[in-house]
Amino acid sequence: MTRYRPAPPPSAGLATSWQHQAAESLPNPLLLIGSAGNVESCNRAALLYFGLELTTRPYAELVAPESAEALGAAVAEVLRGESPADTRLNYHTTAGFQPMESRFYPFTENDRVRGCIVSSTARPDANAHDVATGDGRRARHLLEGLTDAFFSLDDEGRFSYLNVQAQRLLGRPSAELLGRRLLEVFETLGVEKGHWPEALGSHTPGVFEQFYEAQRSWLEVHTYPTEAGLAVYLHDVTQRRSVQQALRRAHDELEARVRARTEELEEATRRLEAANVQLQHDAFHDALTGLPNRALLLDRLSQAVARNQRHRAQGFAVLFLDFDRFKVINDSLGHAVGDALLTALGKRLQDCVRPTDTVARLGGDEFAVLLTDVPVTAEAVRTAERIRVALGEPLQVGEHQLSISASVGIVASELGYSSAAAVLRDADIAMYRAKLGGKAQHRLFGPAMRDEAVRRLDLETELRAALTQGALEVAYQPIIAIATGKLIGFEALARWPHPRYGDLEPGEFIPLAEEIGLITQLDRFVLRRACAQVRAWQRQFPGLPPLTLSVNLSSRQFAHPELAAWLEETLLELDFDPRNLKLEITESVFMASSDEVLRTLREIRNLGVQIHIDDFGTGYSSLSYLQNLPVSTLKIDRSFITRMGEGGESGELVQTIVAMAKALGLSVTAEGIETSVQLEQLKRLGCEYGQGYLYARPLSPVATEVFVAAQGGVEEV
Ligand code: C2E
Ligand code: CA
Ligand code: CA
Repeated sequence: MTRYRPAPPPSAGLATSWQHQAAESLPNPLLLIGSAGNVESCNRAALLYFGLELTTRPYAELVAPESAEALGAAVAEVLRGESPADTRLNYHTTAGFQPMESRFYPFTENDRVRGCIVSSTARPDANAHDVATGDGRRARHLLEGLTDAFFSLDDEGRFSYLNVQAQRLLGRPSAELLGRRLLEVFETLGVEKGHWPEALGSHTPGVFEQFYEAQRSWLEVHTYPTEAGLAVYLHDVTQRRSVQQALRRAHDELEARVRARTEELEEATRRLEAANVQLQHDAFHDALTGLPNRALLLDRLSQAVARNQRHRAQGFAVLFLDFDRFKVINDSLGHAVGDALLTALGKRLQDCVRPTDTVARLGGDEFAVLLTDVPVTAEAVRTAERIRVALGEPLQVGEHQLSISASVGIVASELGYSSAAAVLRDADIAMYRAKLGGKAQHRLFGPAMRDEAVRRLDLETELRAALTQGALEVAYQPIIAIATGKLIGFEALARWPHPRYGDLEPGEFIPLAEEIGLITQLDRFVLRRACAQVRAWQRQFPGLPPLTLSVNLSSRQFAHPELAAWLEETLLELDFDPRNLKLEITESVFMASSDEVLRTLREIRNLGVQIHIDDFGTGYSSLSYLQNLPVSTLKIDRSFITRMGEGGESGELVQTIVAMAKALGLSVTAEGIETSVQLEQLKRLGCEYGQGYLYARPLSPVATEVFVAAQGGVEEV
């Protein structure tokens, strides 16, 4: 909808500037005369004075013949660059000849005089408005020649003049319209009132657009208030509007495309941000359970440590969890079940703590719980207990009902920490102690544990060095034929004389060697050393009957398929009779019971080496199944012998083992004989061999020589 507004520059093609508008608003004619002598441009008043075809006419036609020379001279002077004085010329206007004062200005473009601007002042009583009212024959002639519609209204808004185009537009002849009010006429014709009421009441020129239904065209209506009423000029702008509309459509389309593109970009940005958030999340969370990972736990723990350093009352605690025998579930039921179990365990842990606490998965089956704002250690222990109870409930994972326990290490802020890593390390140490303590337990960290952990770490590195340097030693514990009391051989037992910790027990370094993969090296070292030693004694004491040597072999040895080959080679090298070697292995070797283990055992047996079952009775093997194995002797575990003297079941158990072994053609050795009561009982039961402090402790090589000599009948060479 076009609004009523002040007149814009009427002639298309000229720049919209205030100078232009000023020129248009002048009541006096303004002409631009080009160097070729034609009128090139003019203002609105000039059109009214000189007629609408003005710009096609040579300027000489604008004046009466007697003024032509003066005009020509003035223009020429300006074009030459001189400035002429004002000149009075007699002009040839649409209303007849009219004298006017004319002033000439140079029109320059790019510093060059391109033409001449002529501004003229008419007599005060002869201005353009006279023409607009339609007075005078020439004016009428001019208006009839217009291609646009023109009409004038009197001060009551009644038609006082209409040119042909106006009559055509309204579809009525002048005779029917003159003297009738415009608004009434429009109403009868069904023409919209539009801005007409405003224009009729206005004292200033105005312009607005209106759609004339009958013609299906848009008109730009120019109104000029005159003394007599209103002069109206209507210009068809349908085409211009359609161009404008096309432009607007194109603009809107472009704008829509820009908007769509912007939205696309915004969407892409949102997606990028989301991806970024996801990345951030992934960096701090465990992919399987969705729980915080080690990095996030350490971050939150650092904050807790810092808070605690500022305010001691703001305590925290960390529970370090490791599930017991999780590997068994993974190996037997598959990783999918293992994964599902871990996820379920993560949820169960979260149910045991407050939402403000952090349950994190550190990797594998290790989890940690950070409890914040826990002032007392007791609360942390209570939470550990709660977790233990919660884990007691079996978990349904797919078709499996699974029960699992956890070993939990607890660290509380009371110990005064300054780094998150230290807290986690101590919690790990406490967890390890809990695991050693027999699983399904929790242990509160104490500073002594740290020393133990440090010692363990020391031992790890030093054991490696000790082995390569051959710094380990072997002790020899005599094995006696119970019936005769005669020495038949020795069991070789590893010893580690540690420079700082003193003589270390195998109980301390054998499990460590197994854990860090050094046990094979250790066992083979002991075997070589002991074989060589026994060979040396046999040479040293030629009168001695052949001595047997028992060597312990970790069940892990059986992971090496070349074990038998190595043994054969070594015995050959050391010139040791295989028939005098006994390998002590525990029942756990048979638990795996794979074909490879059996093959290795048979290969060893075929070398002539005997196989003894160590610690018999503590494992799960039944006597009956032993008959299928290449085993020659059972060593009854010390715990049975120790309890034998107290009466009760142990005595009967030992009796049964001895009887069954005999039935199977196996011999029996009793370990840990400490009292003569035990010895007498074993003698009665018919147990063949015995070993224990009652006879001798494990002895150093030198002490062993003394022992051998004291046995009697042994002559030194
Ligand atoms: P084991 O094979 O059962 O060895 C017998 C253990 O019982 C030895 O402990 C020995 O000192 C101890 N013992 C013997 N008689 C008595 C007694 O009358 N009373 C008591 N209380 N103890 C007695 P040790 O030397 O501390 O060895 C412990 C374990 O370490 C061994 O138990 C064996 O399993 C392992 N071990 C020792 N040396 C080696 C080795 O070279 N290789 C492997 N794989 N394991 C070894
Ligand atoms: Ca043994
Ligand atoms: Ca044993």
